[in-house]
Amino acid sequence: MDALDLSDEYDRYAREQRKLDRKEHDSANWESQRQKVAQAKRTIKRKVLDFQHKLTTWLVTEYDVVAVEDLNVKPMLETSQNAKNKQDAAWSQFIDLLEYKADLHGTHVKKVKPEGTTKECAVCGVETAKPIWVREHSCPACGHTEDRDLNAAKNILYRGLKQLGAGRSESTPVQTVLPALTPQREAVGAKRVIEAGSPEA
Ligand SMILES: [Zn+2]
Repeated sequence: MDALDLSDEYDRYAREQRKLDRKEHDSANWESQRQKVAQAKRTIKRKVLDFQHKLTTWLVTEYDVVAVEDLNVKPMLETSQNAKNKQDAAWSQFIDLLEYKADLHGTHVKKVKPEGTTKECAVCGVETAKPIWVREHSCPACGHTEDRDLNAAKNILYRGLKQLGAGRSESTPVQTVLPALTPQREAVGAKRVIEAGSPEA
């Protein structure tokens, strides 16, 4: 599935917002511009929901097990509280949709603790802290290197499989899905990785 690109929609939203800022507050012009801002915001919300519907349908159709990071209750350091609240709301909506559809399809959804999924090495389990801009996981203990998100995705899947009583397996297909819940600018550092896999065992 293609990722969701909302950069045009966010540009438009920012543009309308800037226009609003230049209008005299509470004037007729201001009011009509305020409606344009609201419209731009609704478009983004609708596109996110459409995308989440497509993504969750695809996931439960394609996979028997989907492991996702549970909502992180601790505030994220990389992003503002406001951005985090929005992302949390979008993430909750996504998980709700996923669980609802998974029920209908007999797909297992496992919510796992998000702590340390990017730090942990998916091969040996040793934790290595890395700043958000380091896109590659490179393990000082075992030498394993991999894309940061893919490494995290595997950890999420292993945690999910553990909950199911299954172990890690080299043959488990691993797929990384980024739900693109937020604009790219805001998503850096807050993007969650969805891990979906179909254990053969
Ligand atoms: Zn390692």
